[in-house]
Amino acid sequence: MAWYFDGNSLVQSNGNNIWWKTIYDPGDEVPVSGIYKCQGCRKEITSNSGDPFPPQNHHQHDRAQGAIRWKLIVRTNTNGD
Ligand SMILES: [Zn+2]
Repeated sequence: MAWYFDGNSLVQSNGNNIWWKTIYDPGDEVPVSGIYKCQGCRKEITSNSGDPFPPQNHHQHDRAQGAIRWKLIVRTNTNGD
């Protein structure tokens, strides 16, 4: 889980933008800067807009965890959601 101390630094999105709903694969282009969580093992990374997500060998999964799949959990550095 992502941790925070000052809740005034966070605002809840309505989640309507496509980047909140999309699951990204290794090597996909990062749509917006933020913290992404792997849906297989819950590992979190920070990634910058326009960069590629880490490659398939970024970390190892067992068979039950399936493929590495990234989902946005916190969007950073923006005036919108
Ligand atoms: Zn993982």
